[in-house]
Amino acid sequence: MKEIYLDNSATTKVFPEIAALMTKIYTDDYGNPSSMHNKGVDAEKYIRTAKEQIAKTLKVSEKEIIFTSCGTESDNMALLGAAHALRRKGNHIITTKVEHPAVLRTMEALEKEGFDITYLGTDRYGVISLDELKDSVRDDTILVSIMHVNNEIGSIMPVKEAGELIKSINKDIVFHVDAVQSYGKFVINPKKMNVDMLSVSGHKIHGPKGIGFLYLNEKLRIEPLILGGGQQNNMRSGTENVAGIAAMGLAAKMMYENLDDDVKRMYDHKKHLIDGITDIEDVSINGVSDDGIMGAPHVISVSVKDVRAEVLLHALEDKGIYVSAGSACSTHKKSVSSTLSAIGLEKNLLDSTVRFSLSVLTTKDEIDDAIKAMHELIPVLRKYKPH
Ligand code: PLP
Repeated sequence: MKEIYLDNSATTKVFPEIAALMTKIYTDDYGNPSSMHNKGVDAEKYIRTAKEQIAKTLKVSEKEIIFTSCGTESDNMALLGAAHALRRKGNHIITTKVEHPAVLRTMEALEKEGFDITYLGTDRYGVISLDELKDSVRDDTILVSIMHVNNEIGSIMPVKEAGELIKSINKDIVFHVDAVQSYGKFVINPKKMNVDMLSVSGHKIHGPKGIGFLYLNEKLRIEPLILGGGQQNNMRSGTENVAGIAAMGLAAKMMYENLDDDVKRMYDHKKHLIDGITDIEDVSINGVSDDGIMGAPHVISVSVKDVRAEVLLHALEDKGIYVSAGSACSTHKKSVSSTLSAIGLEKNLLDSTVRFSLSVLTTKDEIDDAIKAMHELIPVLRKYKPH
């Protein structure tokens, strides 16, 4: 059966060029970058190249890239590291209700340590209000963390405006952005956006799992999360994941090579999917408005009244089509989605929402097949109403 993978916000397929590069590193260039012999020097070169490739996409210095094991680690490192380093300056942190668990759970841990956290709400399209942000900043605010693109509904946060606002109130407040869902789809310039720390993950951009990075403004001192041999300038000890790092660099380069065309094509597919399924009765799209709010190019959150998300997911799976139920890049555990609750989605739709997510590899034919499958399945599944 043909497979149609529309779960790219959960993870993406590794580009063949990237898999080939990793194989070469695993089989031939397997040195430890800390070793003084040639094998070590060769490994070190891969890291340097990756840093250059990534730094170029963000227009930052190579010194400002720290490799981690994933987006979650980047978020943890940024938030715990900054909060602990700034503790003497203040106790207040601002974030949003719709962050990924990598941020939300870390905030809860900081709360237990005694930090005071403000959670900003959103409008029905999943976007924070800059006025609420402004009103939330206090004299003791040390850190603000706002995601760029929401992983569940694809809403785009006004991070540039937020950065400008925060720094105009107090330039010492540290601004962190979780860019796991936006890097590779948007031009991101941390310096121009007043962003001090930016989290990115490799497996969302056709790189492998097990690699991510944190952009850390070189003027900023935060406490490291992982202590040991002092690799990466003491900021993240542990022998570097050379193959993953090289892959991350190549993925970064490849994602930005044809960005405009790729993004336009994904928006076309997104519109096509929306048009194709919203003529089915009681099917609605979250985070998108009739008057022009389109959200990110790759995420489409679809609520289907009277059909449980899990049932629809498996029915689509039987046709070879892979999607997510609500928020599904965490675990198999069922929990109410914080984003869908925050946007005020009707209670009966919380459990009836699936996410389609596209990549640069998605084709129009695949979208056509998904539309056809939705038309076939929904009337049948509605015969088995959950209540
Ligand atoms: N932040 C956001 C917005 C995400 O969507 C994800 C994963 O889906 C993460 C963080 C965590 O990234 P990783 O899976 O690399 O740990």
